[in-house]
Amino acid sequence: MKKKIFLFGELSLMSSIRFTKKIALVDCNSFYVSCERLFNPKIRKKPVVVLSNNDGCIISRSNEAKALGIKMGEPYFKAKDIIVKNNVQVFSSNYSLYGDLSRRVMRTLKRFNSDIEIYSIDEAFMDLSNFPDNEIADVGKEIRNTVLQWTGIPTSIGIAKTKTLSKVANHIAKKKQSGVTSLIGIENLDPILEKIEINDIWGVGRQLTKFYQKNGIYNAKQLKNKSNTWIKKSSNVLSSRTAMELRGIPCIDLEKTASKRKSCVVSRSFGKRVESFQELKEAVANYCLNASEKVRSESLVAKSVTVFVRTSPFQRNFGYYSNSKTIDFPIATNNSIEIVKAAVSILESIFKNGYRYQKAGVMLTGLSNDTERKNLFSSEKDEKINNLMRSIDNTNYRYGRSTLSLASAGVHKKWNMRREYSSKIDTADFYCMPKIRIG
Ligand SMILES: [Mg+2]
Repeated sequence: MKKKIFLFGELSLMSSIRFTKKIALVDCNSFYVSCERLFNPKIRKKPVVVLSNNDGCIISRSNEAKALGIKMGEPYFKAKDIIVKNNVQVFSSNYSLYGDLSRRVMRTLKRFNSDIEIYSIDEAFMDLSNFPDNEIADVGKEIRNTVLQWTGIPTSIGIAKTKTLSKVANHIAKKKQSGVTSLIGIENLDPILEKIEINDIWGVGRQLTKFYQKNGIYNAKQLKNKSNTWIKKSSNVLSSRTAMELRGIPCIDLEKTASKRKSCVVSRSFGKRVESFQELKEAVANYCLNASEKVRSESLVAKSVTVFVRTSPFQRNFGYYSNSKTIDFPIATNNSIEIVKAAVSILESIFKNGYRYQKAGVMLTGLSNDTERKNLFSSEKDEKINNLMRSIDNTNYRYGRSTLSLASAGVHKKWNMRREYSSKIDTADFYCMPKIRIG
């Protein structure tokens, strides 16, 4: 979009144009469902739900599914009756797809302003203070249209003076056809805040809700009007910040720089209990491959690797066992082969026969920048291994995950997570590209 450039003279003439602080909260609508719909137009107007890991609970619902009374977080088996009766489309979660589409949405938002805080996989705060107040609603609409056009994901956008108020605005935007609500320029927000229940305010959790209700505070207007001294005395400083923000005074800054991660964990519950060392080894090797790929993609190296295994704490009649161990590398590394080797040797030392394992995981810790290591310890052999890793990553990126893998990671993967209803769409897989027939 075109940004308006104001010349000095022009600015002084346009005293009516104001540039107050403006924060937008962009939230993707029913994000996981929207991702699935993107590649499957047949389910666009139908009720759809997405399940959590191992097909446990409902974690995303389309509006049609909400209208049927299916609740957020409800276990799948409890909702099964309604689902079957109404022919609700069910999907296992496909996080690599959602992660990829999330990155595309965020990249699109950055085109409008690089000052964004990625708050979660489907939400971001943006600083839009450099747009004039009187144009802000249109800017919001343009952001929404662009994201929809470029990524296919529908969003709701709330704009206000503070982060907390932008959440309130977003709450309202979600119920509107246009999907955009701006509270900029509204002098008295009381009639709006009165309708926002205390537990719907950003930063007010379950405990705090109970406490406020006990003290006669049921909505955002009531909290806004409470004195800071009372809030600080009876709760904490964070709560008084929330109240200040409801008054339109910015107290919570945008966290723009995603701090470099210090560790990388890959762990899963198995789709079925695992008893053999071989299967456990395959799972651990796979987690190592995922973790090292992630670490390489951020140009980091790990100082140590931890492996942990455990049986189900709820099936104690089969005996409970849990253990973990860490190994330090002689030189920090992101080489898959080296990481798998170390992890397998840990597993050999902590694996015990006769248990039904439910979960295993791998953690790479002490992450640091790859370049420092390269300067210190680069050798010809290192260079060869780096090239090999790069080729593996590129091949898997082009032709789908696990095209190139290590033999120790196995082929059958019987232990894999239960994903009975997965759409199996992989945006990194050439063969998943939608086909268009012309003529
Ligand atoms: Mg959302």
